[in-house]
Amino acid sequence: MVCVRKTIKCKIIKPTELKLNQLNKENNNIQELLQLEKFGLDFLPIYNSLKKKVYSANIQQALRFYKKIKLDKEYPISFRKDLLEIRKTDNKLSEYWVKIPTKQRKGGLKLAIKSQPFLFEDYEICESKLFKKKNNWFLNLTVQKEVELNNTYSSVLGLDLGQKYMGVSVMQPSALMTPKFYGKEVRGIRRKYDYIRKQLGEKKLLKEIKRFGQKEQRKVTDCLHKISNEIVDLALTSNSTIVVGDLKGIRKSAKGRNFNRIISNMPYYQLTQMLEYKANWSGIRVVKVNERGTSHTCCKCSSKGSRPKQGVFNCSVCGLKDYNADINGATNIGNKVSSGYILEDGATLTLPETGAI
Ligand SMILES: [Zn+2]
Repeated sequence: MVCVRKTIKCKIIKPTELKLNQLNKENNNIQELLQLEKFGLDFLPIYNSLKKKVYSANIQQALRFYKKIKLDKEYPISFRKDLLEIRKTDNKLSEYWVKIPTKQRKGGLKLAIKSQPFLFEDYEICESKLFKKKNNWFLNLTVQKEVELNNTYSSVLGLDLGQKYMGVSVMQPSALMTPKFYGKEVRGIRRKYDYIRKQLGEKKLLKEIKRFGQKEQRKVTDCLHKISNEIVDLALTSNSTIVVGDLKGIRKSAKGRNFNRIISNMPYYQLTQMLEYKANWSGIRVVKVNERGTSHTCCKCSSKGSRPKQGVFNCSVCGLKDYNADINGATNIGNKVSSGYILEDGATLTLPETGAI
Protein backbone atom coordinates (compact mmCIF):
# COMPACT_ATOMS: atom_id res chain seq x y z
CA MET A 1 0.00 0.00 0.00
CA VAL A 2 1.24 3.45 -0.79
CA CYS A 3 -0.26 6.76 0.12
CA VAL A 4 -0.60 8.96 -2.96
CA ARG A 5 -1.26 12.65 -2.78
CA LYS A 6 -2.22 15.09 -5.44
CA THR A 7 -3.38 18.64 -5.73
CA ILE A 8 -6.40 19.53 -7.80
CA LYS A 9 -6.64 23.15 -8.84
CA CYS A 10 -10.23 24.36 -8.61
CA LYS A 11 -11.62 27.73 -9.58
CA ILE A 12 -14.30 29.28 -7.43
CA ILE A 13 -17.04 30.13 -9.87
CA LYS A 14 -19.57 32.92 -9.76
CA PRO A 15 -19.78 33.57 -6.05
CA THR A 16 -22.62 35.95 -5.13
CA GLU A 17 -21.58 39.43 -4.08
CA LEU A 18 -22.41 38.62 -0.48
CA LYS A 19 -20.26 35.52 -0.48
CA LEU A 20 -17.43 37.32 -2.21
CA ASN A 21 -17.53 40.03 0.44
CA GLN A 22 -17.45 37.49 3.20
CA LEU A 23 -14.55 35.69 1.58
CA ASN A 24 -12.63 38.94 1.14
CA LYS A 25 -13.31 39.93 4.72
CA GLU A 26 -12.05 36.65 6.12
CA ASN A 27 -8.99 36.95 3.90
CA ASN A 28 -8.24 40.57 4.77
CA ASN A 29 -8.50 39.85 8.46
CA ILE A 30 -6.12 36.93 8.18
CA GLN A 31 -3.61 38.92 6.13
CA GLU A 32 -3.73 41.76 8.61
CA LEU A 33 -3.25 39.44 11.55
CA LEU A 34 -0.24 37.87 9.86
CA GLN A 35 1.34 41.28 9.28
CA LEU A 36 0.80 42.27 12.91
CA GLU A 37 2.30 38.98 13.94
CA LYS A 38 5.38 39.68 11.80
CA PHE A 39 6.11 42.89 13.62
CA GLY A 40 5.44 41.44 17.04
CA LEU A 41 2.37 43.62 17.46
CA ASP A 42 0.21 40.84 18.77
CA PHE A 43 -0.20 42.67 22.08
CA LEU A 44 -2.21 45.46 20.48
CA PRO A 45 -5.96 45.61 21.11
CA ILE A 46 -6.56 45.60 17.34
CA TYR A 47 -4.87 42.20 17.12
CA ASN A 48 -7.27 40.72 19.62
CA SER A 49 -10.31 42.28 18.08
CA LEU A 50 -9.26 41.01 14.63
CA LYS A 51 -8.67 37.58 16.03
CA LYS A 52 -12.27 37.42 17.14
CA LYS A 53 -13.38 38.08 13.57
CA VAL A 54 -11.45 35.18 12.05
CA TYR A 55 -12.23 31.50 12.23
CA SER A 56 -9.67 30.43 14.80
CA ALA A 57 -8.47 27.30 13.00
CA ASN A 58 -7.77 29.38 9.89
CA ILE A 59 -5.38 31.70 11.68
CA GLN A 60 -3.78 28.81 13.56
CA GLN A 61 -3.12 27.07 10.27
CA ALA A 62 -1.57 30.22 8.84
CA LEU A 63 0.72 30.69 11.82
CA ARG A 64 1.74 27.07 11.67
CA PHE A 65 2.59 27.05 7.96
CA TYR A 66 4.01 30.49 7.36
CA LYS A 67 7.03 30.71 9.59
CA LYS A 68 8.51 33.76 7.94
CA ILE A 69 5.97 36.35 7.03
CA LYS A 70 7.05 38.92 4.47
CA LEU A 71 5.90 42.49 4.51
CA ASP A 72 2.77 43.07 2.41
CA LYS A 73 2.80 39.63 0.89
CA GLU A 74 -0.54 37.90 0.61
CA TYR A 75 -0.70 34.35 1.89
CA PRO A 76 -3.18 31.67 0.87
CA ILE A 77 -5.75 30.71 3.45
CA SER A 78 -4.93 27.21 4.60
CA PHE A 79 -7.81 25.05 5.77
CA ARG A 80 -7.58 22.20 8.20
CA LYS A 81 -8.56 18.98 6.48
CA ASP A 82 -11.42 18.10 8.76
CA LEU A 83 -13.03 21.50 8.23
CA LEU A 84 -13.34 21.27 4.46
CA GLU A 85 -16.21 19.57 2.81
CA ILE A 86 -16.69 18.74 -0.86
CA ARG A 87 -20.13 17.89 -2.13
CA LYS A 88 -21.40 16.65 -5.41
CA THR A 89 -24.71 18.21 -6.35
CA ASP A 90 -27.00 18.49 -9.33
CA ASN A 91 -26.80 22.23 -9.13
CA LYS A 92 -26.85 23.97 -12.51
CA LEU A 93 -23.91 26.26 -11.76
CA SER A 94 -21.54 23.50 -10.84
CA GLU A 95 -21.45 19.84 -9.99
CA TYR A 96 -19.01 20.32 -7.13
CA TRP A 97 -19.25 22.61 -4.16
CA VAL A 98 -16.86 23.23 -1.35
CA LYS A 99 -17.77 24.38 2.13
CA ILE A 100 -15.09 26.39 3.89
CA PRO A 101 -15.02 27.49 7.52
CA THR A 102 -15.25 31.22 8.17
CA LYS A 103 -16.32 33.50 10.96
CA GLN A 104 -18.26 35.51 8.41
CA ARG A 105 -20.96 32.95 7.93
CA LYS A 106 -22.40 30.52 10.39
CA GLY A 107 -22.10 26.94 9.22
CA GLY A 108 -19.47 27.82 6.62
CA LEU A 109 -19.37 29.33 3.19
CA LYS A 110 -20.53 27.19 0.29
CA LEU A 111 -18.80 27.90 -2.98
CA ALA A 112 -19.18 26.38 -6.43
CA ILE A 113 -15.94 25.02 -7.85
CA LYS A 114 -14.82 24.09 -11.31
CA SER A 115 -11.98 21.69 -11.88
CA GLN A 116 -10.87 18.88 -14.08
CA PRO A 117 -13.23 15.97 -13.67
CA PHE A 118 -12.31 13.87 -10.67
CA LEU A 119 -13.76 11.03 -8.72
CA PHE A 120 -14.20 12.57 -5.37
CA GLU A 121 -15.59 9.53 -3.61
CA ASP A 122 -12.42 7.55 -3.29
CA TYR A 123 -10.07 9.94 -1.59
CA GLU A 124 -9.49 11.74 1.63
CA ILE A 125 -9.21 15.52 1.76
CA CYS A 126 -5.98 16.98 3.13
CA GLU A 127 -5.01 20.49 4.15
CA SER A 128 -5.87 22.70 1.20
CA LYS A 129 -5.24 26.29 0.24
CA LEU A 130 -7.46 29.04 -1.03
CA PHE A 131 -5.91 32.03 -2.76
CA LYS A 132 -6.75 35.01 -4.89
CA LYS A 133 -5.21 35.63 -8.27
CA LYS A 134 -6.20 38.50 -10.53
CA ASN A 135 -9.58 38.92 -8.83
CA ASN A 136 -10.43 35.24 -9.06
CA TRP A 137 -10.37 32.78 -6.23
CA PHE A 138 -8.85 29.35 -6.49
CA LEU A 139 -8.74 26.36 -4.23
CA ASN A 140 -5.75 24.05 -4.38
CA LEU A 141 -7.48 20.99 -3.12
CA THR A 142 -5.02 18.40 -1.83
CA VAL A 143 -6.33 14.88 -1.71
CA GLN A 144 -4.85 11.51 -0.88
CA LYS A 145 -5.72 7.89 -1.01
CA GLU A 146 -4.18 4.57 -0.09
CA VAL A 147 -3.45 2.54 -3.19
CA GLU A 148 -2.64 -1.11 -3.50
CA LEU A 149 -0.10 -1.26 -6.31
CA ASN A 150 -0.22 -4.09 -8.83
CA ASN A 151 2.43 -6.79 -8.70
CA THR A 152 1.56 -8.49 -11.94
CA TYR A 153 2.09 -6.81 -15.26
CA SER A 154 2.04 -8.01 -18.83
CA SER A 155 4.72 -5.65 -20.11
CA VAL A 156 7.41 -3.16 -19.20
CA LEU A 157 7.58 0.44 -20.33
CA GLY A 158 11.19 1.63 -20.17
CA LEU A 159 11.64 5.40 -20.17
CA ASP A 160 14.89 7.13 -20.99
CA LEU A 161 15.15 10.79 -20.07
CA GLY A 162 17.17 12.67 -22.60
CA GLN A 163 18.13 16.07 -23.86
CA LYS A 164 16.66 16.29 -27.30
CA TYR A 165 13.42 14.75 -26.13
CA MET A 166 12.33 14.86 -22.52
CA GLY A 167 11.71 11.16 -22.73
CA VAL A 168 11.65 8.14 -25.01
CA SER A 169 9.62 5.10 -24.08
CA VAL A 170 10.10 1.58 -25.29
CA MET A 171 7.53 -1.10 -24.59
CA GLN A 172 8.59 -4.67 -24.09
CA PRO A 173 7.55 -7.01 -25.59
CA SER A 174 8.34 -4.60 -28.40
CA ALA A 175 5.71 -6.03 -30.70
CA LEU A 176 3.08 -4.24 -28.63
CA MET A 177 4.15 -0.78 -29.59
CA THR A 178 6.78 1.20 -31.44
CA PRO A 179 8.96 3.55 -29.37
CA LYS A 180 7.38 6.88 -28.50
CA PHE A 181 9.07 10.25 -28.13
CA TYR A 182 7.86 12.95 -25.75
CA GLY A 183 8.36 16.60 -25.08
CA LYS A 184 10.64 17.82 -27.83
CA GLU A 185 9.29 21.30 -27.17
CA VAL A 186 10.69 21.50 -23.64
CA ARG A 187 14.22 22.20 -24.75
CA GLY A 188 12.90 24.81 -27.18
CA ILE A 189 11.00 26.57 -24.40
CA ARG A 190 14.10 26.50 -22.20
CA ARG A 191 16.22 27.98 -24.98
CA LYS A 192 13.76 30.69 -25.86
CA TYR A 193 13.42 31.91 -22.29
CA ASP A 194 17.15 31.61 -21.70
CA TYR A 195 17.61 34.06 -24.53
CA ILE A 196 14.89 36.41 -23.23
CA ARG A 197 16.45 36.32 -19.77
CA LYS A 198 19.82 37.28 -21.15
CA GLN A 199 18.35 40.23 -23.02
CA LEU A 200 16.43 41.42 -19.98
CA GLY A 201 19.44 40.86 -17.75
CA GLU A 202 21.50 43.24 -19.83
CA LYS A 203 18.85 45.89 -19.31
CA LYS A 204 18.56 44.94 -15.64
CA LEU A 205 14.81 44.42 -15.85
CA LEU A 206 14.52 42.21 -12.81
CA LYS A 207 10.75 42.33 -12.49
CA GLU A 208 10.36 41.30 -16.10
CA ILE A 209 12.83 38.46 -15.62
CA LYS A 210 10.72 37.13 -12.78
CA ARG A 211 7.54 37.46 -14.80
CA PHE A 212 9.02 35.60 -17.76
CA GLY A 213 10.41 32.99 -15.40
CA GLN A 214 6.90 32.23 -14.16
CA LYS A 215 5.56 32.11 -17.69
CA GLU A 216 8.27 29.65 -18.66
CA GLN A 217 7.57 27.47 -15.65
CA ARG A 218 3.87 27.38 -16.52
CA LYS A 219 4.58 26.33 -20.10
CA VAL A 220 7.02 23.64 -19.04
CA THR A 221 4.65 22.32 -16.37
CA ASP A 222 1.87 22.07 -18.96
CA CYS A 223 4.16 20.00 -21.17
CA LEU A 224 5.13 17.75 -18.27
CA HIS A 225 1.48 17.13 -17.42
CA LYS A 226 0.81 16.17 -21.03
CA ILE A 227 3.83 13.86 -21.18
CA SER A 228 3.09 12.15 -17.86
CA ASN A 229 -0.60 11.70 -18.72
CA GLU A 230 0.31 10.11 -22.03
CA ILE A 231 2.79 7.70 -20.47
CA VAL A 232 0.45 6.71 -17.65
CA ASP A 233 -2.43 6.14 -20.09
CA LEU A 234 -0.17 3.95 -22.16
CA ALA A 235 0.91 1.95 -19.12
CA LEU A 236 -2.71 1.59 -18.02
CA THR A 237 -4.03 0.30 -21.33
CA SER A 238 -1.15 -2.13 -21.75
CA ASN A 239 -0.88 -3.12 -18.07
CA SER A 240 2.78 -2.12 -17.96
CA THR A 241 5.01 -1.21 -15.12
CA ILE A 242 6.98 1.96 -15.80
CA VAL A 243 10.76 1.82 -15.42
CA VAL A 244 12.87 4.98 -15.23
CA GLY A 245 16.46 5.79 -14.37
CA ASP A 246 17.01 7.06 -10.84
CA LEU A 247 18.53 10.33 -12.13
CA LYS A 248 21.74 9.81 -10.19
CA GLY A 249 23.17 8.23 -13.32
CA ILE A 250 22.38 11.28 -15.42
CA ARG A 251 24.42 13.52 -13.17
CA LYS A 252 27.28 11.08 -12.90
CA SER A 253 27.63 10.64 -16.60
CA ALA A 254 27.38 14.38 -17.22
CA LYS A 255 30.59 15.65 -18.70
CA GLY A 256 31.71 19.23 -18.70
CA ARG A 257 30.10 22.41 -17.48
CA ASN A 258 27.89 23.00 -20.45
CA PHE A 259 26.37 19.56 -20.25
CA ASN A 260 25.75 20.03 -16.54
CA ARG A 261 23.96 23.26 -17.20
CA ILE A 262 21.62 21.64 -19.71
CA ILE A 263 20.93 18.75 -17.35
CA SER A 264 20.19 20.98 -14.40
CA ASN A 265 17.83 23.01 -16.56
CA MET A 266 15.79 20.06 -17.73
CA PRO A 267 12.90 19.26 -15.40
CA TYR A 268 13.66 15.55 -15.04
CA TYR A 269 12.95 15.47 -11.36
CA GLN A 270 9.61 17.22 -11.79
CA LEU A 271 8.61 14.83 -14.58
CA THR A 272 9.59 11.76 -12.56
CA GLN A 273 7.62 13.02 -9.56
CA MET A 274 4.52 13.67 -11.67
CA LEU A 275 4.80 10.34 -13.37
CA GLU A 276 5.10 8.56 -10.08
CA TYR A 277 2.08 10.06 -8.36
CA LYS A 278 -0.12 9.80 -11.43
CA ALA A 279 0.87 6.19 -12.07
CA ASN A 280 0.56 5.22 -8.40
CA TRP A 281 -2.83 6.88 -8.27
CA SER A 282 -3.97 4.27 -10.80
CA GLY A 283 -2.19 1.38 -9.10
CA ILE A 284 0.75 1.33 -11.48
CA ARG A 285 4.25 1.03 -10.16
CA VAL A 286 7.13 3.21 -11.21
CA VAL A 287 10.37 1.31 -10.70
CA LYS A 288 13.55 3.36 -10.46
CA VAL A 289 16.69 1.63 -11.61
CA ASN A 290 20.35 2.54 -11.68
CA GLU A 291 21.12 3.98 -15.09
CA ARG A 292 24.69 2.83 -15.14
CA GLY A 293 25.65 1.35 -18.48
CA THR A 294 22.28 1.93 -20.09
CA SER A 295 23.60 4.39 -22.65
CA HIS A 296 26.67 2.39 -23.71
CA THR A 297 25.35 -1.15 -23.64
CA CYS A 298 23.88 -2.69 -26.75
CA CYS A 299 20.21 -3.49 -26.14
CA LYS A 300 20.35 -6.43 -28.56
CA CYS A 301 23.45 -8.32 -27.40
CA SER A 302 24.56 -6.57 -24.17
CA SER A 303 28.05 -5.80 -25.50
CA LYS A 304 29.67 -2.44 -25.00
CA GLY A 305 28.88 -0.34 -28.04
CA SER A 306 29.91 3.10 -29.19
CA ARG A 307 28.31 6.50 -29.69
CA PRO A 308 30.02 7.89 -32.79
CA LYS A 309 27.89 11.01 -32.62
CA GLN A 310 25.04 12.50 -30.63
CA GLY A 311 21.94 10.33 -30.77
CA VAL A 312 23.49 7.38 -32.58
CA PHE A 313 24.44 3.97 -31.22
CA ASN A 314 26.60 1.36 -32.94
CA CYS A 315 27.54 -2.13 -31.84
CA SER A 316 30.42 -3.88 -33.58
CA VAL A 317 29.65 -7.24 -31.98
CA CYS A 318 26.13 -7.83 -33.29
CA GLY A 319 26.34 -5.29 -36.09
CA LEU A 320 23.66 -2.90 -34.82
CA LYS A 321 24.34 0.26 -36.79
CA ASP A 322 23.04 3.84 -36.76
CA TYR A 323 20.57 2.85 -34.08
CA ASN A 324 18.70 5.53 -32.17
CA ALA A 325 20.68 5.99 -28.94
CA ASP A 326 17.61 7.02 -26.94
CA ILE A 327 15.69 3.92 -27.98
CA ASN A 328 18.72 1.84 -27.04
CA GLY A 329 18.86 3.55 -23.63
CA ALA A 330 15.14 3.13 -22.96
CA THR A 331 15.29 -0.55 -23.90
CA ASN A 332 18.21 -1.09 -21.53
CA ILE A 333 16.39 0.69 -18.73
CA GLY A 334 13.37 -1.55 -19.27
CA ASN A 335 15.66 -4.59 -19.38
CA LYS A 336 16.86 -3.88 -15.87
CA VAL A 337 13.52 -5.08 -14.64
CA SER A 338 12.66 -8.68 -15.33
CA SER A 339 10.22 -11.14 -13.91
CA GLY A 340 10.93 -11.74 -10.24
CA TYR A 341 12.34 -8.25 -9.71
CA ILE A 342 12.12 -7.43 -6.02
CA LEU A 343 10.40 -4.14 -5.40
CA GLU A 344 11.09 -1.63 -2.67
CA ASP A 345 8.23 -2.84 -0.54
CA GLY A 346 9.37 -6.44 -0.78
CA ALA A 347 6.79 -7.42 -3.39
CA THR A 348 7.92 -9.25 -6.49
CA LEU A 349 7.14 -8.08 -9.96
CA THR A 350 5.60 -10.82 -12.05
CA LEU A 351 5.62 -10.68 -15.81
CA PRO A 352 4.21 -13.31 -18.12
CA GLU A 353 6.79 -15.83 -19.26
CA THR A 354 6.28 -15.03 -22.88
CA GLY A 355 7.61 -11.52 -22.35
CA ALA A 356 10.59 -10.60 -24.49
CA ILE A 357 12.67 -9.73 -21.48
ZN1 LIG B 1 25.09 -5.61 -30.03
